[in-house]
Amino acid sequence: RVKTKWASTRAKVPATYLALQHFDATYKNYFGELWPSVRIGMLSEQKYGALMNNFASNADVISTLQSQGCRDFIRDGERDTHKISDESEQNDHPSAEAARISSHIQCFVFPRGDITRFKPARPDSTGLLSYYLLDAASVLPVLALDIRPGHTVLDLCAGPGGKTLAILQGQAVRFLWANDLSGSRTARLQRTLQSYVPKELRSEDKLRVTSLDGRKWRNMEDLKFDRVLVDVPCTTDRHSLMEDENNIFKRSRTKERQTLPLLQIELLLAGLQATRPGGELLYSTCSLSQLQNECVVQQAVSLAQQEMDITVQAQDLSGFTRLFSDTFHFAPQPPLGELVLPHLCANFGPIYLCKLLRVS
Ligand code: SAM
Repeated sequence: RVKTKWASTRAKVPATYLALQHFDATYKNYFGELWPSVRIGMLSEQKYGALMNNFASNADVISTLQSQGCRDFIRDGERDTHKISDESEQNDHPSAEAARISSHIQCFVFPRGDITRFKPARPDSTGLLSYYLLDAASVLPVLALDIRPGHTVLDLCAGPGGKTLAILQGQAVRFLWANDLSGSRTARLQRTLQSYVPKELRSEDKLRVTSLDGRKWRNMEDLKFDRVLVDVPCTTDRHSLMEDENNIFKRSRTKERQTLPLLQIELLLAGLQATRPGGELLYSTCSLSQLQNECVVQQAVSLAQQEMDITVQAQDLSGFTRLFSDTFHFAPQPPLGELVLPHLCANFGPIYLCKLLRVS
């Protein structure tokens, strides 16, 4: 009789399954009756947006996308800015300022409920690609950062570069420092920049790319930026449910996953240190986890005050998210920051964003 060798032959539980078990246990309680629709969204094919490359000649590409029914969700939101400012003038309400958005960035999406896929982007006559495909909700942190002409910007965790590219599309930044700890992610970022941004805009005085541990910015006392993006490593919930490769829910990565909030707090504190007084920071994740979202922000804000004498104020983004509520499903009344919830009709996200003003 053959003896069953359980230890060596038993099929391993896939990391995607472990992720689903974990999310069912934690998110069900938090999201209550919203959870089933978020869950089915995350288990279904994600929807993309086409971030237009303003440095390429793309007029034909735009008209083709429009003829297919695509629309620029940012332009649509901008139209609403005017509606809101008219209303706020009448109501004496300051929401217009909160709702400022950069008009140079264009991101096309198919209408709600339409799951058509974009074709891969093609190069123009100079070799630059016409658009970059990404989760359209990941443009929101860049828009919310409200980069104004002449600003210096630090993108602390930049690889593979979707948000870095969106920052450059705004055409306002005077100097951008894009950093990522991982050598391979930094290399991808470099390749993205080469494929989308003309050489003259990639000179050292305009754009710097490094591969440093972002936590080191805590020691760089004299380097201050007008705007800082801290798009931290997280449980990447959608990826964790769909792909076994590089999955943070693998049993061998349990410790790494459990210590993520500590790393996130350290990166956020480093980002705050790098923000000039009066400047703003945007913290973002692609997770639904409260522990990686609100709790990290709360902890970092209180540690910044106690340990670094840095006073921070969370900014209200409700006027901003209202502009894009036709495109994205936002979580109703989150305690701190804003959260894009996946939904079958608008299957973007999850993306959490929280904007902080460094007061002193
Ligand atoms: N902002 C990127 C984009 O839009 O394409 C995505 C960033 S991803 C969510 C998080 C990144 O943080 C990963 O590329 C990872 O390599 C990087 N990272 C992890 N630990 C880091 C650290 N200590 N310092 C800087 N970057 C780090």
